[in-house]
Amino acid sequence: MNAPDTKFPIGTAEQRQKEELVRRFVHLPPDKRRHFLIRLSEQGIDFSLLPVPAGLAETGDVPLSYAQQRLWFLFRLDPSSTAYHMTSGLRVRGELNTQAVRAAFARIQARHTALRTTFHEIDGQAVQRVHDSQALPYREFDFSGDQHLQDAEIRHLAEVEARTPFDLERGPLWRITLVRLADSAYEIWLSLHHIIADGWSLNCLMHEFSRFYQAEQDILSHDIPAPAITYADYAIWQRAWLEAGEADRQLAFWRSHLAGEQPLLRLPEDYPRPVTPSNRGGRVSFSCDQQLTARLKELARQHGTTLPNVLLSAFFIVLYRYSGQHDLRIGIPLANRDRSEVEAVIGFFVNTVVVRLSIQGQLPVHELLQVVRAAMIDAQAHPDLPFEQLVDALGVERDLDRNPLFQAMYNHQQRAYDALNIPGLEISPVDRDAGGAQVDLSLDTEESGMDAGLKGVFTYAVDLFDAATIEQLCGHYQQVLHGLIESGEEKFGKKRIEQLALDRPHRVAGYPAAGAAGSIFEPVHALFTRRAQMQPEHPAIVYGEEETSYRELDAMSSRLAQRLPLKDGMLAGIMLERSPKMIVAMLAVLKAGGAFLPLDPEDPPERRAAILHTAGIGLLITAHGLYCDLTVLPDAGIVDIDQVLHRNQPAETSGSINAIHPQQLAYVIYTSGSTGQPKGVAVEHGALSMHCQAITKHYALTADDRFLHFAPFQVDAAVEQWVSPLLSGATLVLKSAELWDGDRLIDEIAANAVTRIDLPPGYTAIIAECAEKRQHGLQLRACTVGGEALSREVLASILKVMRPEAVFNAYGPTEAVITPLLWKTTHMPDRLSHYAPIGQVVGDRSAYILDGDLNEAPAGASGELYLGGALLARGYYGQARLTAERFIPDPYSRAGGRLYRTGDLCRLRTDGQLEFLGRIDDQ
Ligand code: AMP
Ligand code: MG
Repeated sequence: MNAPDTKFPIGTAEQRQKEELVRRFVHLPPDKRRHFLIRLSEQGIDFSLLPVPAGLAETGDVPLSYAQQRLWFLFRLDPSSTAYHMTSGLRVRGELNTQAVRAAFARIQARHTALRTTFHEIDGQAVQRVHDSQALPYREFDFSGDQHLQDAEIRHLAEVEARTPFDLERGPLWRITLVRLADSAYEIWLSLHHIIADGWSLNCLMHEFSRFYQAEQDILSHDIPAPAITYADYAIWQRAWLEAGEADRQLAFWRSHLAGEQPLLRLPEDYPRPVTPSNRGGRVSFSCDQQLTARLKELARQHGTTLPNVLLSAFFIVLYRYSGQHDLRIGIPLANRDRSEVEAVIGFFVNTVVVRLSIQGQLPVHELLQVVRAAMIDAQAHPDLPFEQLVDALGVERDLDRNPLFQAMYNHQQRAYDALNIPGLEISPVDRDAGGAQVDLSLDTEESGMDAGLKGVFTYAVDLFDAATIEQLCGHYQQVLHGLIESGEEKFGKKRIEQLALDRPHRVAGYPAAGAAGSIFEPVHALFTRRAQMQPEHPAIVYGEEETSYRELDAMSSRLAQRLPLKDGMLAGIMLERSPKMIVAMLAVLKAGGAFLPLDPEDPPERRAAILHTAGIGLLITAHGLYCDLTVLPDAGIVDIDQVLHRNQPAETSGSINAIHPQQLAYVIYTSGSTGQPKGVAVEHGALSMHCQAITKHYALTADDRFLHFAPFQVDAAVEQWVSPLLSGATLVLKSAELWDGDRLIDEIAANAVTRIDLPPGYTAIIAECAEKRQHGLQLRACTVGGEALSREVLASILKVMRPEAVFNAYGPTEAVITPLLWKTTHMPDRLSHYAPIGQVVGDRSAYILDGDLNEAPAGASGELYLGGALLARGYYGQARLTAERFIPDPYSRAGGRLYRTGDLCRLRTDGQLEFLGRIDDQ
């Protein structure tokens, strides 16, 4: 892009003839125009090479150009939006002649009709109206006497000025503010509405300002030719030309370029997208010094492409890494200033095109540069099709919450600061922010003639992103630029995109280790027995009227354990109604050295049969009348718990019967899994014990706590819900077998002085609702919610109505042992995504967000959650192949660990907390 020069087309006879031809064309009825174009092209005349004649637009109201129509529409939707403000600022040192400044801008306004235009709707038609004269929107402020004014305050004023909305109907649609800061220090602030200008127009303005300012002081002559045509001439010409067939031709290209689905860009948003966006923008800027810029230009040269294309390629790479998407689109404004007659016209000529790229991580860098170059050449050959027509033609739904067809934009400008070489003055650019955002994320890069460096700024929708997220993205963008240069300098330039290093993502935060390092292994039942010896008469379980002390629970479970012919992790099914006996039985199986498999007596016989078929239990603990439908009988037979416990003999020993080692199986729990096919998750003693000790510590459970045990015994949360309270000496309040509705739950919580609950979010929401109706305060120390995503609405109502001291969000697939991740809060966070975070890892675990190639996603980017470390299940019971599919070798561990693929889509926030986004397969 070159700065516009203001040469006049020479009025030769041939030129006038051509102009006459175009005039005739424009005034033809629409159907005739098409034939006219066809005839011209038969004669070998390319219409697009003919000039746009001056004076096409009559005086009075003129229709809008297509581009203007879109902005007019957006203005009517939200007149206060600053998303389409254009700003510029100059800092001036030296003896500025303010009279001459004003006079120079007055001349510019007189020359350019766009600067005197307003917009209206007449009989349902949008029109633009050029005013012969309009007062110059020029203001001067003198702060030179004001010693106290800090730079920050000046910047603030500059931004307030930039953010003052334009009224398109009343005008003026541009503003000049001259601020005197000190004796010979000034700033000039320019603001324009995009509907009358574009980036190129700003360059025109600077040129003309420089020229006229100097002319006012008799340094140069005033004598520059007026622009050849007006913006309205162009608008009329463009309409006539596009309507006569050119639009169809260009549309055919864009249809094929953008064929298929129109995917939405999935950047790692920090906040849920509001239904009506505020269009407020935040900015993160960076700069590349002279040397880096020179190397980027050299890279472009080596690959036969341009600097903007290299910068665009890097943006594509970052979007790819952040979204994990392969089909990416970026909106790119094309200047549309190739015609000499529009070169020096201020107006809105730019048209935004959609550049689509298909990216794979394996693509070599040099190929990407070629692909981007080719895409840009294609786009530039079809630059006129109005974006709105494209959207209509592709039948894209227009949601007000995001831009159609693309959600990211890239724009490169070459600034004509060189033009501002005015003798006696030292002029430099000032950055001003109008505070708007047109799309989710845009990147603007700028080469100024003044220093050979490069400036860039990311503008992001503050509705969606935290500054920290975009700051990190900006850092990664710069890393990619360096990576491109390095790979370009490699002998063959064959580096693949996925090999461009982004710095290691943040780590998922972890809670401090539970036990002392290297602490010896103790199985949970042994820890329980130690507790029981410390506080034998303390109630362990309350179940309705029935109370069981720690001593009784320990004794009963030992008595049963002695009757169980189990060893070495042999599997014992437990099929009992919900009651304290369930806990007795589980403790007993562990003490006997076996592993338990809870079976639900309410399960349909087919499901039970399917489970027993794959699991093959050695023993069944049950009660009379529950096992009549059993088709397969276990080898070691059936133990009737009532008969054993009835005999009421004291236990010979308490605690373990057999020695336990950490790799010994502790339980198998069946989950239905996404396929509906039940799979048994096998968990070992070491993992169970370490997990329960860690979580107990994070919950800070004490012997004073009364913990409502709510979970059905067939899910692993039920194990945590009895083990961790019993390890802390707390009392379990065991929910009875029948259904509890919200009112019953509240009554039971109150009657039993429950201090802790652990419920699925759905239930919690019900209690919160009932509690609100009854205006019933609950005296809860903590409320744990888990098993499903915790929406912010439910979190808010828990905090508001139930007012526990703390809320925990407990996340965990059965395969990763109950609660691998935990998030704690005491208050509603300021801003929250759809769901509460799932927090950080519990105990000796690791967590990664990986893409489809097992590359770590940049922090903030979404990807699949993988869990590793010592606290994983052994695998699926008796299903080695399935185990190998879901538990894979951990590429990030040195000690040959494993990773469990959760199938959950998550992202890592910049503060190290994980967020749950949904299931991968739901996408
Ligand atoms: P399960 O193996 O039956 O415990 O199911 C585990 C799955 O439930 C996880 O993979 C998640 O999809 C979901 N899940 C469990 N807890 C949470 C939670 N706190 N937030 C979001 N999803 C959860
Ligand atoms: Mg779970």
